[in-house]
Amino acid sequence: MIKVVKFGGSSLADAEHFRQVASIIKADPSRRYVVPSAPGKRFKDDIKVTDMLYTCYNMVKNQENIDEYYKNIAERYNGIIKELGLNFDISGELEYIKNALQHRSGRDFAASRGEYLNGIILAKYLGYDFIDAENVIFFKDNGTFDEELTNDVMREELKKHERAVIPGFYGVMPNGTIKTFSRGGSDITGSIVARAADADLYENWTDVSGFMMTDPRIVDNPCSISTITYRELRELSYMGAGVLHEDAIFPVRYANIPINIRNTNVPEAAGTMIVASSSDYDAEKIITGIAGKKGFSVITIEKDMMNSEIGFGRRVLEILEDNEISFEHLPSGIDNMSIVVSTASLENRREKIVNTILRNVKADSVAVEDGLALIAIVGRGMVKAKGTAARVFDSISNAGINIRMIDQGSSEISIIVGIEEHDFEKALNAIYREFVK
Ligand code: ASP
Repeated sequence: MIKVVKFGGSSLADAEHFRQVASIIKADPSRRYVVPSAPGKRFKDDIKVTDMLYTCYNMVKNQENIDEYYKNIAERYNGIIKELGLNFDISGELEYIKNALQHRSGRDFAASRGEYLNGIILAKYLGYDFIDAENVIFFKDNGTFDEELTNDVMREELKKHERAVIPGFYGVMPNGTIKTFSRGGSDITGSIVARAADADLYENWTDVSGFMMTDPRIVDNPCSISTITYRELRELSYMGAGVLHEDAIFPVRYANIPINIRNTNVPEAAGTMIVASSSDYDAEKIITGIAGKKGFSVITIEKDMMNSEIGFGRRVLEILEDNEISFEHLPSGIDNMSIVVSTASLENRREKIVNTILRNVKADSVAVEDGLALIAIVGRGMVKAKGTAARVFDSISNAGINIRMIDQGSSEISIIVGIEEHDFEKALNAIYREFVK
């Protein structure tokens, strides 16, 4: 049994958390490969080390002196080492990095050092080997992640280490410079390591006990999700439920390795299991999660006899493509077609797009309406339970809310409704209450 464990920044923010992390790792000998983030916030207004490193980079760019500011970063690491009682000096590394920063070593290099240093300290503390991510995580010339090369090299490297720490968030470009994933990217590293290690489980330790059924800022005290499939999570994460970096799903999904979201501060909680497929669902609830987002617009195009005009849809979508806009949904009628896009993506291009559609497809009318919110109701149980859609629509209309758009994904595990933005919170509560009594 092999488990890959990733610990987020809040789980490694100070010495106390390092101790907790070590006791979690030591409690299960199968926790062999560890992926740490950089130290996160210790209290509400604290600053993450990654953000401090970005600040250093910007200061150097503006030709400011970083001596004083850099001391704060050094103190975070020295404090951890001292409090843990480690007999080990990191000042050489810290000096080297400061020097590199002063010589304009690149924004990603700067940011990556948070994980690098934390990885060295954690490896020492655990007595594990340290594998620098720059030797095992590769990007291509165009900046995209090189999945195959990484998997091959990482796989061979891991075989040489019974137990190791691999810092998250970064890898290397073909020319040798350091490159990071996008923010929160240590989740991706963990997933890549899990795949290369042929792990049985990828544990992602953070500061919440897994996913909630819906946004706790909008619905009071929502239930937590014990099991969710990758596909359900995609439908939800895409609407903005962000405990896990969305790109972290792909490497393990490909290899059929489940992810377990766990809470470092409440290690006894089972958290949420993310699995490839699951035939069981909660017959009481039917749905797994509800997520939504404001800020969408609908472009409605009308044209007589549209339905028999071959190539109409393609010509319309081509116009979006030319403007580099991706669409969210495409609900259509016989002689009309609506395209749901994020309002932000229309900025400065709205008129141009409307006029091009009018001209290129000779539409009778084209209208853009803003102020739409989308809510995705997701659940693998829907396929089996009859009447779920009716319950969703009833709950919304019983709350006195008008539904502007309906879309049932062809996978039958999600229903998406569009409503006015000002009805968003009310609708989310109404749907939640319908399914969770
Ligand atoms: N330290 C990086 C960040 O703050 C990556 C991570 O925490 O996953 O975004």
